[in-house]
Amino acid sequence: MSKTSFTDIFSQYTWEEVCNGICNSTDENVKRALNRTGRLTPEDFMALISPAAKNHLQEMINKSYSITRRRFGNTIQMYIPMYLSNECNNVCTYCGFSFGNKLPRITLTDEEILNEVTVIKEMGYDHILLVTGEDNMKVGVDYIAHAIEIIRPHFAHISLEVQPMEKEEYEKLIPFGLNTVLVYQETYHEKNYKTYHPKGRKSNFNFRLETADRLGEAGIHKIGLGVLLGLEDWRADSFFTALHLQYLNKTYWQTKYSVSFPRLRPAEGDFEPKYPMSEKELVQLICAFRIFDENVELSLSTRESPAFRDKIFELGITSMSAGSKTEPGGYASNNHALEQFHISDERTPAEVADVIRARGFEVVWKDWDAVM
Ligand code: SF4
Repeated sequence: MSKTSFTDIFSQYTWEEVCNGICNSTDENVKRALNRTGRLTPEDFMALISPAAKNHLQEMINKSYSITRRRFGNTIQMYIPMYLSNECNNVCTYCGFSFGNKLPRITLTDEEILNEVTVIKEMGYDHILLVTGEDNMKVGVDYIAHAIEIIRPHFAHISLEVQPMEKEEYEKLIPFGLNTVLVYQETYHEKNYKTYHPKGRKSNFNFRLETADRLGEAGIHKIGLGVLLGLEDWRADSFFTALHLQYLNKTYWQTKYSVSFPRLRPAEGDFEPKYPMSEKELVQLICAFRIFDENVELSLSTRESPAFRDKIFELGITSMSAGSKTEPGGYASNNHALEQFHISDERTPAEVADVIRARGFEVVWKDWDAVM
């Protein structure tokens, strides 16, 4: 029996058909999606992110809020990114670490990693997201395995956002203590993907698209999906993210999933998003994902402003970062010249936690212990 992958599902849709389906969604389609009692269909999700659903935003907010409270209680899980390296062999037109950009390239040594760990632990964190650029020689699987090995004793949950790997490489990393891998497609617009990623291994659209399948087969605990909101029409890109999520849920049902909402921020190279997304539209999208999948973790980063994060975190979000630095060594040395992009919420983790608690929520720094 030949094995299916998400590519088979993806190839059944065209970008134009999806855009038309979303634009042509009616008030009736939105109401049907909001009133459906069982599992929502991809067409229901289309309706929830459509322009027609703007008139139902308050209803979506109410529904998303009540599903989230029922499923997750009044809790927000806290995590923090730690950049291990800004070496990268890819050209990505929107990123400060892009190969052509002139900036000092750094890969943390063991000592520098442990210096970062010390500062991050003092903030209270027990869940860390390790990030690198994509350079298979300088930050290949052996470097990452070693980094996880020395970080593992200090954190209950380790996530990774690095170059897409082969299944066997993920299988190698899991016993070291890897729990979660985030791999954002950036955009599902196959033709334009090449424009944003003209050089390097990342220009291989299909290899990236099938990464979640390789992770599922490797038996990872959690997979994170997302697109870079602003590269292409956010509605079509989010539809494909939802389609991907539903496929993975059915195929690798023991795995957990998360979705993130990175809106493009200014970075080196002055990249201007072609399809800027408003805050109101981001609220609509977050609520649509929650109504579509009540179990998925929804994550909000420090790319968003303090005022906006404070207003919307309780509507459907379950996981937040705070105090983030986007440069390698940034916690111990604070070198902004190396950062990948500028964050918007610059408050300390303690300040963000105070706001969350003041709204009656429990701030969760650690929600599990892996049984090794
Ligand atoms: S987005 Fe990732 S792969 Fe692309 S240039 Fe930046 S660090 Fe490299």
